[in-house]
Amino acid sequence: MKTPLVVGNWKMHGSCAEARTLTGCIRQGTGALRTVEVALAPPFTALSTVATILKRGNLRLAAQNVHWEEAGAFTGEISPKMLRDLGCRYVIVGHSERRHLFHEDNRTIAKKIAALLRTELGPILCVGETLKERDKGTTVRVISRQVLSALKGLPKNGIGKITFAYEPVWAIGTGRNANPDQITHVHSRIREILKGLLGKAKATNCRILYGGSARPENAGELAGTPEVDGLLVGGASLRAEGFLKIIREFSRSWRGQSLEE
Ligand code: PEP
Repeated sequence: MKTPLVVGNWKMHGSCAEARTLTGCIRQGTGALRTVEVALAPPFTALSTVATILKRGNLRLAAQNVHWEEAGAFTGEISPKMLRDLGCRYVIVGHSERRHLFHEDNRTIAKKIAALLRTELGPILCVGETLKERDKGTTVRVISRQVLSALKGLPKNGIGKITFAYEPVWAIGTGRNANPDQITHVHSRIREILKGLLGKAKATNCRILYGGSARPENAGELAGTPEVDGLLVGGASLRAEGFLKIIREFSRSWRGQSLEE
């Protein structure tokens, strides 16, 4: 049975002192929680601070980006090995801000995923359509292309280790989340692709998260949405109280559910 995953993406926010306080509050608030896996993705500058606090707890450390090479003359970049050394479990790849603001393409994203898998880090692959693509009716085509190009050439056991995050670009940071029907439609398509590649049992075990204006107020509905195996939370993960409420909503909704087909 898979455990839902809730990831807080702090983006480019916070000093080390702020990261310490936020992590401490989240750690205290999640206590002995076992029903939801929680990961925190602070900026690179705070990874070490957060890692120290998470050392003995259940919370996982995640990074927001990575380079695909192990080492070398790549000024300003961070390698998978460096992230593993700090205690990271997950790394977000292909976030729409990376794709749109920093022009990362599907080939770059595929290289990063392969490098993470070689280093035994769990990639969280973000995919999502722009509003223009949705309005044109090309959502499923865009998502399929993003997923398939990121997985190209990977062995089956590698694909099974990837967490997928459907994040419609128009929903990120806008206060406008996708509705349950839109989410289930896209998640089911991703699951179909995975079934074709891995077979039904392994595909069912892969987690597909939703991300885009998740908040304490809509977390209950998102947790109850078919095919949603967790959340990638941006803005709302920066306040401990709200983030904890999101986690609790997920825990309440998922407790006791059989997730097997
Ligand atoms: C994100 O950045 O991954 C995200 C989902 O942001 P927000 O929750 O702020 O929309």
